[in-house]
Amino acid sequence: MKKKRVLAVLLAIGMACSLCACTGGEKDSDTKSENTKKETKQTSENTDDSKNDATINSDSTVIYTNAGNILTEDDETQGATVFAVKDGKFVYVGNDVEEVEKDDNTVTVDLEGKYVTPNLIDAHTHPGTVAMTKWCTEIDGETKEELLTQIEEALSEKDIEEEPYVFFKSFPSDLFGEEGPKKEWLDDICKKLDKDFAIAVSDFNDHSVWVNSKWLEIYTMDENATTEGFNTNADGSYTGYISELHWMDYMDSFYENLGWKPPIDATEELMSIVTDDLKQWGMTGVFDAYIESDEQVESVSQLDKDGKLNMYYDLSVKLPQFKDLEDVIARIKRLNDNYSTDHVKVDTIKIFYDGTNEAGTSALVDGLATDPNNHGYLLMNEDETYQVLKRANEEKLDVQFHMVGDLAFRQACDATQRLENEIGQLDSQVEFCHCEYINPADRERPAKLGIIINWTPQWSGGYFGEAARTYLGDERYNDMYQFNPTIEAGGIVTFGSDIYSWDEEQRANPYFGMQTAMTRVDIEYPLEDENGNPKARESESAKLSLENLLKGYTINAAIALRVDDVTGSITKGKSANFNIYEKDLFDVDVEELKDVLPEKVYFEGNIIAEN
Ligand SMILES: [Zn+2]
Repeated sequence: MKKKRVLAVLLAIGMACSLCACTGGEKDSDTKSENTKKETKQTSENTDDSKNDATINSDSTVIYTNAGNILTEDDETQGATVFAVKDGKFVYVGNDVEEVEKDDNTVTVDLEGKYVTPNLIDAHTHPGTVAMTKWCTEIDGETKEELLTQIEEALSEKDIEEEPYVFFKSFPSDLFGEEGPKKEWLDDICKKLDKDFAIAVSDFNDHSVWVNSKWLEIYTMDENATTEGFNTNADGSYTGYISELHWMDYMDSFYENLGWKPPIDATEELMSIVTDDLKQWGMTGVFDAYIESDEQVESVSQLDKDGKLNMYYDLSVKLPQFKDLEDVIARIKRLNDNYSTDHVKVDTIKIFYDGTNEAGTSALVDGLATDPNNHGYLLMNEDETYQVLKRANEEKLDVQFHMVGDLAFRQACDATQRLENEIGQLDSQVEFCHCEYINPADRERPAKLGIIINWTPQWSGGYFGEAARTYLGDERYNDMYQFNPTIEAGGIVTFGSDIYSWDEEQRANPYFGMQTAMTRVDIEYPLEDENGNPKARESESAKLSLENLLKGYTINAAIALRVDDVTGSITKGKSANFNIYEKDLFDVDVEELKDVLPEKVYFEGNIIAEN
């Protein structure tokens, strides 16, 4: 079971702290102990105000010399120590200052042996969702009794007129087994308090939800709303446990029938708290792994038009069910027509293909360890998957699959292969994210099929605890999160933080992700041995190298976002998007990687963040 020590501290200091201030500044966590924002100066608009660059004009050629090392992520320019920037682009990358074309405005900046990389990219995360979870009430109970006490305490302080629907985050995913928690437990609290709240409590994985009778009553007022994934009692009544995400697609009518809507607006202000943190870490690219409202796209687009975004921002739209395909394609086109800019685009269909290992709903070739005949949940069959890929390819849209189990992986590979056999290489980019357990027989297929794999390095240790062991059994459990065979076969693997709520916002730190993937120890949520000491997650061979991690965070991610023509490597002609670090990342002790911050972050030639 996942332990939520950090949240316990949070609760102790009170839930009133707002936004990022509570996640960033006050969480008593090692991940950020030395990364405090106090030391950080964020410049959200383009400026040329650094000390070294005081004399740089907008039309200057700036030569950066004497780098200790430059990670160019470009085979042609490996070993370069000099680069030059003009009009926001790299105009020279090499080793000889004399080769740079100079003019009256040429300025030279001595890097004094510092280390340079391309900007990093978060190839899968949810800034909009994070913004929209601000209204949620956090709880961290590890037992039924603790949870119910916390829920009762929180509800007793709430004014039902102001918040008739309360959404709690979260209960441990494996606490109640497949049966799930019961609506009656929540109903009893409402009776006791004499307050008729609608209540939902998400599980830690954000895939399952526990609701009360009032919630069910309002939800089912919409006769079209799906009840797929709703657990039932023998008499057909709902238990209050919902194991899949389809209910989320009907929340608009829920709010209408309730006569109240939570403050879930993904405003520019809220969204830029997340994007500013990403830039502070040297990240200037984001794949937003599905939008929850059109406003998210509008906000990001407006930030870019106001010159405040300073990053590439890709968005995707969720395909709820196969039957919704044409609607989703139309929505993507409309959003793109209305909001795309030089840096913002909506070009991906997002599919939640299977469930999760911790809830026993991932799709598995050999079935659950607890029931080999149960192969888990799949949103679509292979033929439907093929149809989606075919239509996406015709529309030149990309497709990203959320997938966890090896059956999901295999079926989506098969569908891709069928289409490629028919028409050759696809225009569409097919991407699988998570891929927590890949069958050994399929690990080299992404390279052959041109499928991009995305992983969340922050999950490489104990983030999800050991709950998956129950459903996978030891052998598969010990062989999870294994991406090296895919990389060695030539597959493109990218990395993303996949943050989903305010309380984990600081976990988007990519250096924390790198450390966790290199050590298989999550210092915030460590797995423990029998004596309670932190232990590394199996297996040793699944540890990722810093070299592969940096590649996944730069050029590979740029390919995934289709921005590799302008970013992802330090290459002549590309935009001057680079980070300067005090120390070579390869010389940093792995246990200290989480504390790394770039000294300066440049986007299109201008400093956008300094630490
Ligand atoms: Zn995600």
